[in-house]
Amino acid sequence: MKIGFPKGLLYCNYYPFFNSFFSELGCSIVTSPDTNKEILNLGVKYCIDEACLPIKIFHGHVAYLKDKCDYMFIPRLMSISSNESICPKFCGLPEMIKNSIPDFPDMISYPIYMDTEKNFMKFIKKCGHLFTMNNFKIQKAYLKGKSAQADFLSKNKIHKVHNIKVALAGHPYNIFDSYTNLNLIKKLDELNIGILTEKDIDENLINKQMKTLFKKPFWTFARKSYGFSTFCAKNNLVNGIIYVSSFACGIDSVVLELIKKELSNFPILVLKIDEQTGEAGFNTRLEAFSDMLERRYNFNENNISQPR
Ligand code: SF4
Repeated sequence: MKIGFPKGLLYCNYYPFFNSFFSELGCSIVTSPDTNKEILNLGVKYCIDEACLPIKIFHGHVAYLKDKCDYMFIPRLMSISSNESICPKFCGLPEMIKNSIPDFPDMISYPIYMDTEKNFMKFIKKCGHLFTMNNFKIQKAYLKGKSAQADFLSKNKIHKVHNIKVALAGHPYNIFDSYTNLNLIKKLDELNIGILTEKDIDENLINKQMKTLFKKPFWTFARKSYGFSTFCAKNNLVNGIIYVSSFACGIDSVVLELIKKELSNFPILVLKIDEQTGEAGFNTRLEAFSDMLERRYNFNENNISQPR
């Protein structure tokens, strides 16, 4: 039995778990390639115009895979943290896909609540019963998946060290998909700028930072982006923040205002991306921000030159 696993949205967070889980149940996993022009074009062809870029790209990955698998794995993510919601586009994704892409294979799209282990197990059992009625086998596959996920999380990526560092904030599928963000991490490295991402900061510290807000946001992405950016800035871990934001993302528009309000004098560059984003303009903004950070760094650290 072949399961298609589209390489979009939260693939970068949960692939190790689901790959081990389904493999242990005897399925083989087929993934789409890294996002590329063909995937983007397929996404733009099948998805509605109003959707954000990550959703269009996800459509592209699904369209690429649809004839190559028996089941398509499109989880209906309802919640990934306790007492928090996720963007509604994740909850309606299976319907969006089914109604946009013709000749679709069977879909695994049971709702997933990851807020508690008990809730998550309900999803695991339903999924497992598609392939075996042996609960012991399902439990074993679950434990295998958990251990693969723990392994993946323990291997923090080592970033290159540079004098100037920025917090790279935004949704994981924008930060870790180099096609979507026009190779941002590589470009920053070439400009001698190091990065910190959400994965480098202990989640407890991010949560503690949320106490500066009078009300905790109810979206998981908002909590993480706000907590991570403001924690890094207030603890002098970075010289600036680069926020990669999808055009038309409601969550980003709120979080960005909250961050700017909290860090009124801190360098922040917002890079909005959609399928029309031109690389030349993107590079110019990046280079201008990098120059500004360098002048500030020289002034603050070595007092060599006065920033304008
Ligand atoms: S959170 Fe924003 S970028 Fe992500 S799927 Fe929702 S609207 Fe799109």
